[in-house]
Amino acid sequence: MKARKLLMIPGPIEFEPQVMQSMATPTPGHTAPNFVETFGRALEMMKEVCLCPSGQPFIVAGTGTLAMDMAASNIVESGDNALVVSTGYFGERYAELLKRYGANVDILKAPLGDVVPIEEVEGQLKKKNYKLMTFTHVDTSTAVLNDAKSFGELGQKYDVLTILDGVCSVAGEEIRQEEWGIDVVLTASQKAIGVPPGLALLVASQKAMKAFDNRKTPVANYYCDWNNWLPIMRAYENRKPAYFGTPPVNLIIALEASLKNILNEGIENRFNRHLKLGRAFRSAIKALGLNMIPVNENVSANTLSAPYYPEGVTGGELVGQISKAGIIVAGGLLSDIKSKYFRVGHMGSVNRSDLLATIGAIESGLKDCKYKFESGVGLKVIQDCLNE
Ligand code: PMP
Repeated sequence: MKARKLLMIPGPIEFEPQVMQSMATPTPGHTAPNFVETFGRALEMMKEVCLCPSGQPFIVAGTGTLAMDMAASNIVESGDNALVVSTGYFGERYAELLKRYGANVDILKAPLGDVVPIEEVEGQLKKKNYKLMTFTHVDTSTAVLNDAKSFGELGQKYDVLTILDGVCSVAGEEIRQEEWGIDVVLTASQKAIGVPPGLALLVASQKAMKAFDNRKTPVANYYCDWNNWLPIMRAYENRKPAYFGTPPVNLIIALEASLKNILNEGIENRFNRHLKLGRAFRSAIKALGLNMIPVNENVSANTLSAPYYPEGVTGGELVGQISKAGIIVAGGLLSDIKSKYFRVGHMGSVNRSDLLATIGAIESGLKDCKYKFESGVGLKVIQDCLNE
């Protein structure tokens, strides 16, 4: 019997075997011609995945938080006004991070499970001049999805730089960075991009790069400073080696492999697959009688779901029983309600059988926790949705 369980948490996700195999390539030097080609291709493909042909990509060793730090530290100067639109844990993190660089931060907080209405965001931009605005495309703590297109439009209308935290959305949810006028899209490797943790990834618009060029003060973070990284990214895109900090060579080889997979599937197909699987998963969870944190379908992410435990079921027990049935899901993250809900990631190369197995394991776990429901209803609904 296979001992391995299926990892269905919202990152790290299950990675494709060929991506894992590419990690095991004997490490080339960072100036080796083959690696220079790999790095150059990975940079080009990041622009394709974000649909931002004129963007400036950055690939550096670090996590998603470093990508947030890099965007903030290169754009913000002490005394700048920044607006954070928060839909949960990661919005709060961005507000704290921006303050470290001396930004005057205003935060608009969404009610639990909902977004801040776009009219409210616009009202705030009318009231005060901001240099930048951040929002979390998919907040991994709440599974709430923001309408990225509207944020891009507002940013352009009010001449405010928009930073999209796409750690839980890039290569899963629809993002058209250039068309929508979003200035920085940032992400990390371990989620829908499909590469083990360790890469901070960004694509910056020409407008963001101009704001960086016009800085009057040095970037307060040495490692993140684009003055250090820009020549490196430009060199590799031009198929020349360069050095600032040793690149995580094997992770970048894996990134090239995964980005190739993503573009072979086709970015539009990938958006549609996530949408279809996400909807089907939510329908099955609801059919089992569980409520979701997102208040409606319009604000529900397709890369993960966050259901509340049903009454009478304790979280630790259910998550444990689901794991016994072979599927690993994650507990809650938002501190006020941490013990009341769980999270299931369904992004990257996730497929129909992964979701069937997950719903099956959740049904089996619910049964073990003595929760009353119509046995098999989740499996029936998800199959009906997937067959539509
Ligand atoms: N933003 C979001 C939306 C995330 O989901 C995460 C990670 N879960 C982060 C930022 C931070 O990324 P990392 O853990 O890689 O630092």
